[in-house]
Amino acid sequence: MLGLMMDAPLLIPSILDYASRYHPNTEIVSRNEDHSLHRYTYAEAAVRTRKLANALKTLGLKPGDRVATLAWNNYRHFELYFGVPGAGMVCHTVNPRLFREQIEFIINDAQDQYIFTDPCFAPLVEAMIINLPSVKGVVVMGSREQMPGNILHRALCYEDLIAPESPVHAWEQFDEKTASGLCYTSGTTGHPKGVLYSHRSTVLHALAINQPGMFGFGPNETVLPVVPMFHVNAWCVPYAAPLVGARLVLPGPRLDGAGLLEVIRGEGVTVSAGVPTIWMNLLNFCDEHQQSVAPMRRVVVGGAACPQALIERFAAHKALAIQGWGMTETSPLGSVSVLDARHETLSEEARMGLMLKQGRSPYGIEMRITDAEGRALPWDGKARGELEVRGPWVISAYYNLDDDSQFTKDGWFRTGDISTIDPDGFMSIVDRVKDVIKTGGEWISSIELENLALQHPSVREAAVIARADAKWSERPRYILALHPGKTITGAELRATIEPFVARWWIPEDFIVVDEIPHSATGKILKTELREKFGAEQHP
Ligand code: ADP
Repeated sequence: MLGLMMDAPLLIPSILDYASRYHPNTEIVSRNEDHSLHRYTYAEAAVRTRKLANALKTLGLKPGDRVATLAWNNYRHFELYFGVPGAGMVCHTVNPRLFREQIEFIINDAQDQYIFTDPCFAPLVEAMIINLPSVKGVVVMGSREQMPGNILHRALCYEDLIAPESPVHAWEQFDEKTASGLCYTSGTTGHPKGVLYSHRSTVLHALAINQPGMFGFGPNETVLPVVPMFHVNAWCVPYAAPLVGARLVLPGPRLDGAGLLEVIRGEGVTVSAGVPTIWMNLLNFCDEHQQSVAPMRRVVVGGAACPQALIERFAAHKALAIQGWGMTETSPLGSVSVLDARHETLSEEARMGLMLKQGRSPYGIEMRITDAEGRALPWDGKARGELEVRGPWVISAYYNLDDDSQFTKDGWFRTGDISTIDPDGFMSIVDRVKDVIKTGGEWISSIELENLALQHPSVREAAVIARADAKWSERPRYILALHPGKTITGAELRATIEPFVARWWIPEDFIVVDEIPHSATGKILKTELREKFGAEQHP
């Protein structure tokens, strides 16, 4: 017997409808390329988004067509986030920091019909356009004055495009499983692969993010997504914030410490989300200029392991760093490390130990760890295996790719991360399958060693890679970037980590570099480090 409740589809525009009806005067503040601020309300954003939906149809776009964006976190990008899927098309957020060849590959793979670009990426689009046969036109996301003069002369102007349109009267209703967004993995472990989100997966994921104990935004908060809107939908923050009527601050391209502090303090940001490197830069800036991150009280840290130093340094500012784990393939929320009342009696050290784990899943995500034969391993906090997940916002197949090697026969997604899960369900990432160091048949966790090195005051950033070893096949090697003017000796480094790890974990050597290379999404480029520094003897 079926229930007798309405079958209302979960469609993305309903989020903006909600915000504009119940929080019409709540602001979206957006920093422009010239650093000036643009302010408008959810009600105004909704009207422009409805005009955009009609403009897309005027351009001749049809349901299912892919529309690419090359843009920072700004209000026009926000309108595309809702207008494109609202009109039945797919919003394909392209990461402009990737290599040009990768961007071309991605746009051609997606067969994008239009590119919406920020004025600053116009030269990049101009350089690529000849290699993008599916693209019928380019729209520059700006006013007429911001049109690039002598390049992309056939490009349309966003403001001119939407000005003559009337707002769509009522959003079309269609199947909630319709594709809404497309995002490619950054390709740190191979070719970029397309992940195709649906309206349903996006709305459910936005609801999950907003639960207490997850990101838990509220209508009294001002939310700053620092994580770019071209990276896993800015972790869904631009959907989750309007869903509860939170005020939204979109920081534009200026993401250095000074630029972030300016909007945090100027706009009264209370909660934010971003990768560890961004936060380290912010904290360094604050320390150098004796500034506080107030009123920011909560900071979601994800995309890479959250170092202990980051949690401690934010705590000194009375801000709570909350570690989250996820992937492009999981929309991205997979787990969050939030302590509850039972943990209050634990020692400081034990609490820190839990915060350094990647945490528990929200309702909706199931996890398991498996051995090489695919057998489930116990949740004892010790057994290490590949993490597998499933749930309504987890990928079921890659876009346009006939490769099911990352999916198990019984319907789980293989993350490529190695982890433990403790009896309370706190998951801890030990490594990526490709980064783990296999020494004499045993595994060493590069993440754990990296975290320990950061306890030394001279160390700004640490990476651990496998170097070749005749006897043990692989041994760990530290690659360190130091704070300006600081030094470190082998004995000091050893003394820092020795108390916390087995002796055979301790790397025999370390190499100091000026900068540790990062991928377009802020992850340490271990492939590059291994190529450079992976030989047994380093000169
Ligand atoms: P890509 O897989 O292309 O690098 P993603 O942004 O999807 O891009 O990266 C997901 C990966 O990032 C995860 O599989 C995991 O290895 C890593 N990751 C994300 N969050 C964390 C975290 N909190 N701790 C450790 N690793 C993390």
